[in-house]
Amino acid sequence: MSKVHNWQIGREMNYPYTQAFPRRQFAFVFNINRCIACQSCTMACKSTWTFSKGQEHMWWANVETKPYGGYPQFWDAKILDLLEKANPDNQQWSGKPSTDKKKPYGQFDGKTIFEAQNMLTPDSARVLGYLPTDEEWNLPNIYEDNPVGKKGVRNELDKEGTELPVHKTWFFYLLRICNHCSYPACLAACPRKAIYKRPEDGIVLIDQKECRGYRKCVEACPYKKSMYRGNTRVSEKCVACYPRVEGKDPESGGQPMETRCMAACIGQIRLQGLVKMNKDGSWAEDRYNPLYYMIHVAKVALPLYPQFGTEPNGYYIPPRWVPRDYLRQMFGPGVDDAIERYNHPDRELLAVLQLFRRSNRIIFRYEIKEGPKVYEATLRGRKVTLYNDTVIAYGQDGKELFRTQVEEPLHVRPNKHANSI
Ligand code: SF4
Ligand code: SF4
Repeated sequence: MSKVHNWQIGREMNYPYTQAFPRRQFAFVFNINRCIACQSCTMACKSTWTFSKGQEHMWWANVETKPYGGYPQFWDAKILDLLEKANPDNQQWSGKPSTDKKKPYGQFDGKTIFEAQNMLTPDSARVLGYLPTDEEWNLPNIYEDNPVGKKGVRNELDKEGTELPVHKTWFFYLLRICNHCSYPACLAACPRKAIYKRPEDGIVLIDQKECRGYRKCVEACPYKKSMYRGNTRVSEKCVACYPRVEGKDPESGGQPMETRCMAACIGQIRLQGLVKMNKDGSWAEDRYNPLYYMIHVAKVALPLYPQFGTEPNGYYIPPRWVPRDYLRQMFGPGVDDAIERYNHPDRELLAVLQLFRRSNRIIFRYEIKEGPKVYEATLRGRKVTLYNDTVIAYGQDGKELFRTQVEEPLHVRPNKHANSI
């Protein structure tokens, strides 16, 4: 085991390999507050990559309904349970969120999946994990529209209707793809060294020729985003639509494009980028990159289960209405500040939030041109002022991709149009 620095947990941790970082890293921000679970992202991925025989159970991109849903079922509850069993009552954070770039959310003092593995599986594994059952892969969307049967029996509908357990009524959609982690558990666990992280963009891929289907990656990935294909006997995972990211899509004009799941998002909640990395694995200062701004300056977007230790590169703007304890467990101690900022966005954040889904090209820089004041009110005891600023997005080649405004333009249909009755 080597010692590596994991800034998301604010400390050094054990990892089976020495640290090595890409020049740029594939990363994304998902705004949970706006997801409508239309599953356009899920189907965009399915129809591009996993529509073949043997891939029926594979949903590289999925949207699950929390707190009950999960694909595979119970994935996060099971990993949290294993970690708790390995390190009872000690899976805790200390310190507070701060401006310290090495520990912006404080410090996680518990065990990561790389540190807890010896306590439960002394000889067999490099990473604490488990293999989901076939049944757990069956239902990518359970509990969204499917009531459980009597006494919560899975896969069985109650013909007389159903009664929900007594609980406070809240739920939210958690949209997930592979996080192309900085310390991938899949890569760490592979005995064939068939998994690699690309130096040019940090995308994590499985070499299909080298893989022998041992499923160690499936067992180790805490997010369960590596999947086994029975008819080819190798494992497969999200490839981050790398031809698009490389600018090789026929439509791209040579410019990096966002993945299919990002580009298809109807709710306009997804923004993907390629961020510059320092040699020590920290993010290089890039103040007007929208991801750098949201994650490191406004700190409105947070990693998913940072305590697992893989340093995931997917970040989420947490849902405002969900009990804070649940959110702190899922996104770490930065949750309260992130929700406060999202509830009371300043002028810059409001403008940056308009960048989501105005283009399928990757945005490398933004610029804001100030506009007139259009609204003022007191909301939840705070004064809110809205300016109709213009935000301009630029691509990799420095050329303008688009410009948009904080106040959405109103388009009035003509009286007669194609589908008039
Ligand atoms: S999310 Fe899982 S499959 Fe993806 S890079 Fe991280 S550990 Fe590997
Ligand atoms: S396409 Fe966007 S809004 Fe629809 S389910 Fe996916 S993330 Fe949510």
